[in-house]
Amino acid sequence: MAKVGFIGLGIMGAPMARHLKVKGHEVTVYNRTSAKAAAWVAEHGGTAAATPREAATGQAIVFCCVGNDDDLRQVTIGPDGAFSGLGQGAIFVDHTTASAEVARELDDAARQKGASFIDAPVSGGQAGAENGVLTVMCGGTPEAYATAEPVIMSFARACRLMGPAGSGQLTKMINQICIAGIVQGLSEGIHFGQKAGLDIEAVLDVISKGAAGSWQMENRGKTMNEGKFEFGFAVDWMRKDLAICLAEARKNGARLPLTALVDQFYADVQANGGRRWDTSSLISRLT
Ligand code: NAP
Repeated sequence: MAKVGFIGLGIMGAPMARHLKVKGHEVTVYNRTSAKAAAWVAEHGGTAAATPREAATGQAIVFCCVGNDDDLRQVTIGPDGAFSGLGQGAIFVDHTTASAEVARELDDAARQKGASFIDAPVSGGQAGAENGVLTVMCGGTPEAYATAEPVIMSFARACRLMGPAGSGQLTKMINQICIAGIVQGLSEGIHFGQKAGLDIEAVLDVISKGAAGSWQMENRGKTMNEGKFEFGFAVDWMRKDLAICLAEARKNGARLPLTALVDQFYADVQANGGRRWDTSSLISRLT
């Protein structure tokens, strides 16, 4: 069992930290809004720290799941940041969806402390975090990964080292690029079926067993048809992720015409009041 810290008890972080505690790890948590950390400790046990630095001090592994690049810099290399508490040989595992650039920057900063950094964005959403079945895409050294992987598996069903620092984030970008195109295609299919007057549930039932089937169709098709979007992964987060993908594509020369277009479609959804709706709300701008 490991002595671990966890920074960021949001929708994803709180259940991930709970799985670590349930598996028997010794968990110290930090959350910016301290009431959330106090409530987490009251429910699950463990210790609440007053700063990221305190949460990282003396830990073998420090986990983190905050919002974006700037948030991540703040809790790591900012004042009272976790990196000022990291000891020699400690491993910092970041589950935030962020840029590959910040991952490389923090990898350098961790090395200077004799510690290691693993970028480890996740897929599987809130349900995946709550049920401990996330998919984790990692970038880092094989040595650090070998130590961290069994602990990460406390809340994951799949975890893989993709290459050096930044590779986990690059893999997550591909995940988001694929989702953007699939959700737009599914939106158009359902919209077309509605206009054609077909029984959409029957349509989805039959075509999901063929070549058009997808996770999105299985899990979101029915609710998209019903216009229900109040769950899952928010449009605001998706736009943050697509901005990361498009910025990376400008650097590596990849052409992402559909991703760029779908990003603008999501801007329409935001303008229509859907900032916190699920990503499947892409269909709402067609109906
Ligand atoms: P969330 O519920 O909004 O939680 C964000 C957490 O980060 C909160 O604990 C928040 O603290 C903390 N935080 C944000 N900015 C901070 C700062 N500057 N300093 C200190 N703490 C800060 O978000 P979430 O849904 O858990 O998502 C977290 C990350 O996972 C994001 O990068 C997201 O893209 C990614 N992700 C989310 C999902 C999903 O389905 N939700 C799926 C895959 C990946 P406070 O409580 O004080 O606000």
